[in-house]
Amino acid sequence: MATVTDTPSKTSTNGQHTNGADRPNSIPSVYKEPAPIVDRDNPLESMMQRFDRAAEILKLEPGIYQYLKTPVKSVIVSIPIQMDDGSVQVFEGYRVIHNDILGPSKGGIRYAPDVNLDEVKALAAWMTWKCAVVDIPFGGAKGGVCCDPRTLTMAQIEKITRRYTANMLDVFGPDRDIPAPDVNTNEQIMAWILDTYSMHVKRTEPGVVTGKPIVLGGSLGRREATGRGVMHSALRAMEKIGINPKQATVAVEGFGNVGSISAELLAEQGAKIVGISDISGAYHNDGGIDIQKAIAWVESHGHLLEGFPDAERITNEQLLTLDCDVLVPAAREDRITKRNAHNIQAKLIVEGANGPTTAGADPILESKGILVVPDILANAGGVTVSYFEWVQNRGGYHWTLDVVNERLATAMNSAFDRVYAASLQYKVSLRLASYILAIDKVAKTLRLRGIYG
Ligand code: NAD
Repeated sequence: MATVTDTPSKTSTNGQHTNGADRPNSIPSVYKEPAPIVDRDNPLESMMQRFDRAAEILKLEPGIYQYLKTPVKSVIVSIPIQMDDGSVQVFEGYRVIHNDILGPSKGGIRYAPDVNLDEVKALAAWMTWKCAVVDIPFGGAKGGVCCDPRTLTMAQIEKITRRYTANMLDVFGPDRDIPAPDVNTNEQIMAWILDTYSMHVKRTEPGVVTGKPIVLGGSLGRREATGRGVMHSALRAMEKIGINPKQATVAVEGFGNVGSISAELLAEQGAKIVGISDISGAYHNDGGIDIQKAIAWVESHGHLLEGFPDAERITNEQLLTLDCDVLVPAAREDRITKRNAHNIQAKLIVEGANGPTTAGADPILESKGILVVPDILANAGGVTVSYFEWVQNRGGYHWTLDVVNERLATAMNSAFDRVYAASLQYKVSLRLASYILAIDKVAKTLRLRGIYG
């Protein structure tokens, strides 16, 4: 059922390339002449453009460049499900392991109608760089199932999850590849993955997933970890550019796990949240939005929807260009592009989402003097506490919430400081500095381990 490709072969399923997209196999021209930045709204291209720049600064050997730009494994599975009316519907699922040289690969699984292999490849590579930036011993992976959860019942989502897991038995494992929640997946879905995997290996294996319910071995603080990490990154960055958090105004795009918790924790630090949005719409209030009220509203209505009280309805596009100090994009990729980057008014962008800014927008934001804390640093709190969860599972021991939060704060703040120092050393943006640190770490490990075969 599974199509597995190992570097450097090229396999395709349903006409989709599983290796290297449309990039040539020869040494890239970026070594001779930096390619002009283009804004293709393709997360894989955006990731590769940043990777190329960092590789160039590091003068990465061509062989190591080739190795690191290519996922070590891409798996495509077909997931046939019997629907409630007896008909059969077939979904497509992906798991890409970008690199596992630092340790077992780690990365979330998303369920969405527009999930595709290029997106999953980009997200998998970001996980490699993210784990390296925060210095945890994991490689990078990502998974996805192309489906629209809004049109599926819980029973159908469970069937999809179990069949996807069964198809990935050779991929997943606590010492091999460890999934976690991402867009439209949650701790219940992690519980089904744990159960399906455990049934097949004939022992309960909590370490095969993270972000699972506490009672199944989940970590205290995991649910809030990404938002908490965003809050730490935002505070550190505000300090660097002289914004007092107690006087700061913040707009947050996306009001799911990352967005709502980032907003809640920044509000707790004294910031005024002047704008929020979700897929259903955006709201603005210069006097500040009551985030607890908004969370309760979403809990009871499912979305912010028309009618959220005490705030003016604006468009999702206007939310991104609100007059505020800090913008936290925490929804999906490609939200800040060269089309709207000129209109961003925030002084600081803290990327809660993966890939919210395209490579084409980077130079525009830089020329406007906007400081961007990049995704692979800003939202690394989630994978950091996932790592803590895995460590607790392996030790058969629970840490208190205080211990988890304290270790998360230390990890996030020291990662920020390392990246900030690298940005001064190389005279580059925080984004490029993060890539430089991450690629350098993985490349050094690769040189020491050598190439087998
Ligand atoms: P989620 O499904 O809980 O929330 C996503 C939110 O974004 C929802 O409120 C949705 O309505 C909103 N949204 C979607 N499209 C939008 C649009 N066009 N405009 C405005 N809002 C929109 O997902 P999440 O877990 O919060 O993840 C959000 C982002 O953060 C993703 O990029 C994900 O990869 C990234 N991320 C998540 C974690 C984690 O631990 N959950 C960790 C790291 C990175």
